[in-house]
Amino acid sequence: MAKEKLKKSSIAPVQPSWPERLHYLSQRQDRMVQTIRELVEIESPSDNKKAVDAIAAVLASKFEALGGRTELHGSSEFGDNLQVDFGEPFRDRSTKPVLLLGHYDTVYPLGTLANMPCKIAGGHLYGPGVLDMKSGIALILHAIEALIAWHGALPRPVTVFLVSDEEIGSRSSRKITESLAKKSAGVLVLEPAAGLEGAVKTARKGVGEYKLTVKGIAAHAGLDPGKGHSAILELARQISVIAKLNSLSQGLSVNAGVIRGGTRTNVVAAEASAEIDVRIKLAKQATVLDRKLRSLRPFDKKCKLEIAGGINRLPMERTAGVAALYKKAQAIARQLDWNLDEAAVGGGSDGNFTAGLGIPTLDGMGGVGNGAHALHEFILISELPRRALLLAGMIEGM
Ligand SMILES: [Zn+2]
Repeated sequence: MAKEKLKKSSIAPVQPSWPERLHYLSQRQDRMVQTIRELVEIESPSDNKKAVDAIAAVLASKFEALGGRTELHGSSEFGDNLQVDFGEPFRDRSTKPVLLLGHYDTVYPLGTLANMPCKIAGGHLYGPGVLDMKSGIALILHAIEALIAWHGALPRPVTVFLVSDEEIGSRSSRKITESLAKKSAGVLVLEPAAGLEGAVKTARKGVGEYKLTVKGIAAHAGLDPGKGHSAILELARQISVIAKLNSLSQGLSVNAGVIRGGTRTNVVAAEASAEIDVRIKLAKQATVLDRKLRSLRPFDKKCKLEIAGGINRLPMERTAGVAALYKKAQAIARQLDWNLDEAAVGGGSDGNFTAGLGIPTLDGMGGVGNGAHALHEFILISELPRRALLLAGMIEGM
């Protein structure tokens, strides 16, 4: 892309009005559906490197066709992560790129399409990963294409980063996501919108996972009952302590969701464990909660406690930077007589990483629908044009 095309001042073409732009994108609705179908029909479960690499290659060629420079970040264990750069962010440091973030892995194993085909019915488009988040990726492609049509080139540098392992914790992609976010003016995450009203997401809870293991002393339950120190009894007492850490009014929840322990009914259990899911609303709750969990002490002094794990994703807090992005999105929506709501949600995304670094982040910019990770997963087709326009407007305005 020529450098001079990035400068707004050199040529000032007459820009279409917001309604004209919406009309432009509405005329392309069928093509958007076609793009989404194509992506949904390439199954890409997180744990199948070959399948995930295949969709990465297809997407790389689509972005190259739009003039993007692509780079695949290889991973031996997970699928490759795809970075695409438009414009020259490093030549003109005053205009930092916008980072568009997404993932092409899904939670559905290969063969899911046989029972859950990609189909259109009643204005809905169904299929595995259609909402979470192949429609989000298609919106990126079509928003960029439209911006190039309206401006002759992208009006500012844009970096797209699509990861291969979001559904399983983003272990191979997290560092790259964070380093790209640090170089960017802000981050737009193409995860699904909240609810059928299509709210954007301005806050997400932080997520952690811990495992508490209790080591007791085994004994024959009949012959030596007094000699044993039951790990199960100790664990039960600890779980009731852990449950008291819940503070729903503060947005903090703790759930011992899986317990294991013991070997036989006639043995006092030597070992028991609990797996604990943790959700926090504020980053500062992480250290306090971590300290409380690590300072648990056994009721039975002959039992030993071990705690492992930690917080994986810090919360995406509604900082001033996040709120400012939402305001911009609202102003664009208002041009279309659209009242765009915001929502705070319990689940985490890669937006938690970028917001955790203090980079303004707006999430839930993707498709509108329901049933993510479920058999009835769908998007509302009629929402596609204005979602693409919202994304295009945010890229211009950030
Ligand atoms: Zn997702």
